[in-house]
Amino acid sequence: MRNTLIHNAVLVNPSLPPEVTRKGWLLMEGGRIHSCGEGEPPPEVRARAEVGIDAEDGILLPGLVNAHTHAAMALFRGLADDLPLKTWLEEIIFPVEARTVSEEFVYWGTLLACWEMIRTGTTTFGNGYFFEHRALDAVKEAGMRAVLAAGVVDFPTPSCRDPSLNVEHAIAFVNQARDEEPVRPGIFCHAPYTCGPETLVKSKEACRAHGVRFFIHCAETRWEVEEIRSRYGTTPVRHLDRLGLLDSDTVLVHGVWVDEEEIRIVAQRECSVVVCTESNMKLASGAPPIVSYLREGVPLGLGTDGPASNNDLDLFGEMDQTAKLQKLREGDPTVVGAAQVLHMASVGGARVLGFHDMGLLEPGYHADLILVRTDRPHMRPLYNPVSQLVYSARGSDVEHVWIGGRHVLQQGRITTLDPEAIQKKTALLQVQVKSHIPER
Ligand SMILES: [Zn+2]
Repeated sequence: MRNTLIHNAVLVNPSLPPEVTRKGWLLMEGGRIHSCGEGEPPPEVRARAEVGIDAEDGILLPGLVNAHTHAAMALFRGLADDLPLKTWLEEIIFPVEARTVSEEFVYWGTLLACWEMIRTGTTTFGNGYFFEHRALDAVKEAGMRAVLAAGVVDFPTPSCRDPSLNVEHAIAFVNQARDEEPVRPGIFCHAPYTCGPETLVKSKEACRAHGVRFFIHCAETRWEVEEIRSRYGTTPVRHLDRLGLLDSDTVLVHGVWVDEEEIRIVAQRECSVVVCTESNMKLASGAPPIVSYLREGVPLGLGTDGPASNNDLDLFGEMDQTAKLQKLREGDPTVVGAAQVLHMASVGGARVLGFHDMGLLEPGYHADLILVRTDRPHMRPLYNPVSQLVYSARGSDVEHVWIGGRHVLQQGRITTLDPEAIQKKTALLQVQVKSHIPER
């Protein structure tokens, strides 16, 4: 990894409010941001650089953070669309997963997802799935940063046939992956309706004992709220709170159907919430109350959710849709602006995942950076680079990506993975998956 100097760049630091430098430079050294500034790089900066890149007025910003996905489900992309969540999960996804998900499936599916994420400017992601040790292999090969959380449900899964051992199984992965920086382990309980109280409490206790993040889908659909009410006489957030699961290391995914008191509970317990707009839209689950979460100071990240319910991992589209859906929800075009969603998709998501030196253009922060082209028609003119990133840019506009100072995407070509091999293997696995789609 060489000291790299980028000059002639529009620098966008996604703080709140964001800082924009119209013509600037940035030096990476030892995997971190060494320094950055306005105008031409000074001679002492030039002297330290081993590689120089002319950004040609492209926008340089921190790599995006996909705070919630199920990467290997990239192999289920387009398998079943236009269905309600319950039908989609119970009649298609769960049965096909039971028959096709294997160590090999997770490895190749995660490679496919990493290729897509790097190609579209995501450098870190939060994941929840099965066979996470194989996802770990794929993420290391790709050179990405991630929190990989072992999936837990109270029924047999491809990676844990005996559900009574599900939490032990997850703990084994946490132990295996604890020294694998920049990848960190965690535990992902699928939902309050697929994990009973005992499983939830045991999983959270294990997370506390090991100092790792606890993730759970929560309050995603109206159906879930009614189901939890009928089983436990209360709503999903209150149910998790009564079980003692909510604290600053707990990440609630979705949080769509919550009342104002539940939002205050989430804030008081210092939990984070990951919003997955496109997946919520596609499954008609609803629109999360982002304005209320922000008012209460709840830390927010942005996620695509799995590629089977989105159907891509492009956070640029996710930012755009999130800002627009919130305006529609509130009947107010001034809420959840471009700066807010860019913050959620970068430093906000980084903090939700527990990375506190990532997501800003600050000296000492990880040199996880992306360079976005601005010489395409939809990127011109360039009045406001922040709104351009959110409302005009697409993942395919990302030209260069560095993770920890390593140049992993160079002029649109990935340097860490073999796209041809991934495509060949994906085609083979597609045939296998197709033969297991249940008749409906
Ligand atoms: Zn999910």
